[in-house]
Amino acid sequence: MKREVWVIGGGLAGSEAAWQLAQAGERVRLFEMRPVVNTPAHKTSCLGELVCSNSLKADYLENAAGLLKAEMRLMNSLIIKAADQTRVPAGGALAVDREEFARTVTKLLMDRPEVEIVREEITSLPLDQPVIIATGPLTSPAFTQWLRGLLGREYLYFYDAVAPIVSKDSIDFTKAFFGSRYARGEAAYINCPLNEEEYNRFWENLVSAERRLDHLTEEAGLKYFEGCMPIEVLAARGRDTIRFGPMKPVGLVDPKTGRRPYAVLQLRPENKEGTLYNLVGFQTSLRWGEQKRVFSLIPGLAEAEFVRYGVMHRNTFINSPELLLPTLQWKARENFFFAGQLIGVEGYVESAAAGLVSGWNMARFLRGETLQAFPPETALGALFGHITTADPRHFQPMNINFGLFPPLTPENTGRRYGKSKKEKNQAYAKRALSVLGRFIRNFVE
Ligand SMILES: Cc1cc2nc3c(=O)[nH]c(=O)nc-3n(C[C@H](O)[C@H](O)[C@H](O)COP(=O)(O)OP(=O)(O)OC[C@H]3O[C@@H](n4cnc5c(N)ncnc54)[C@H](O)[C@@H]3O)c2cc1C
Repeated sequence: MKREVWVIGGGLAGSEAAWQLAQAGERVRLFEMRPVVNTPAHKTSCLGELVCSNSLKADYLENAAGLLKAEMRLMNSLIIKAADQTRVPAGGALAVDREEFARTVTKLLMDRPEVEIVREEITSLPLDQPVIIATGPLTSPAFTQWLRGLLGREYLYFYDAVAPIVSKDSIDFTKAFFGSRYARGEAAYINCPLNEEEYNRFWENLVSAERRLDHLTEEAGLKYFEGCMPIEVLAARGRDTIRFGPMKPVGLVDPKTGRRPYAVLQLRPENKEGTLYNLVGFQTSLRWGEQKRVFSLIPGLAEAEFVRYGVMHRNTFINSPELLLPTLQWKARENFFFAGQLIGVEGYVESAAAGLVSGWNMARFLRGETLQAFPPETALGALFGHITTADPRHFQPMNINFGLFPPLTPENTGRRYGKSKKEKNQAYAKRALSVLGRFIRNFVE
């Protein structure tokens, strides 16, 4: 067996996998097709480019996404290290300056003597080569074709959408105001409050606006991931659905009225300079002209300049419960590992976490050691346990969440946990970090 590892795809998962291997002292050839061949969503040639939101989600322990980050920090994650270095204010979330973030990921990898970066599209692979396949939801068509033949199974697929971005100086601050929900962290968000009449007008225009994929129906195979549903699809479920979702007003008080608004659109800073803001939860498949017309009905956005419109893309993922072990090794060929959104995780950090687990286990494989799944009590173990053991007939992409963890009992926590959701989540996090600490002492140090 050859000793050098080929990592295919220099996105969040592939970059993290290459980093983990380099830290273990292994030689890596990292293949990234950009800028020679581009995807429909990426804009630069940088490794680790974030294609949509600049937020890596919550960064506090009572949230499962925050716990996953804490665990990745303990495992010296490249993606979390780069995010920590380039963070921008975002309340309780870890949001980054997207360009600086991707530049940092690229530089940290270029500085590693173990890593060679090759700008080339891979369309097939030698079967005796140790590889980690991390080509993401927008895997190039030629490689998709080859993989389909290799795996001998049909791919699953779904569609995903991107939220628009507007320039800050085009927002009308006689209507909009700064503030975070429940005043948590800095007042980083811009809030556009709507009264009942404004909301009804907006909703009616949103659900009747022209979409780009109107010719595709759910029956024809158009599937969305529940957590990244286009705003107009969510709105069509009922007049109040988005008022209890992305436009919920809870925890916010409009300083002009002293009252909680009827509905709110939140905008999150997109860059360190705070000149660009994205419309939180407003991923959309509306035609661009329709986006401008409909979103401009929101108070504060009447004159908004849209620097990027929302778009839709096809996302590809494999049936991991059928194909992979919890170590992310392919069941059929021990020198092939998979990582990233391609395996059916959803989210930037989850994708990077898959790179971490596959890179770490590939290093063990090369050293002839037994591969190790992360313990189920940890976020890393719970997520990849689920991804590789879910029901393959109904497999859908998954975010990290506490519902994936084994339940807490007095026996495995050592004492009774509190009754509130926050206390319960804290208990999950405490147990996870203590179990991971022991795991690291056994297998990493
Ligand atoms: C349009 C869109 C919007 C999204 N928005 C969000 C969001 O806001 N928040 C969130 O948490 N998640 C989002 N996701 C989901 C997911 O978190 C990201 O796609 C994430 O980047 C996945 O990481 P990855 O490493 O698996 O793939 P990627 O980051 O896409 O990396 C894969 C890399 O492989 C390269 N590649 C592909 N084929 C080949 C080949 N044949 N040879 C060599 N290189 C190849 C690509 O150029 C790319 O750089 C979004 C996904 C899409 C498609």
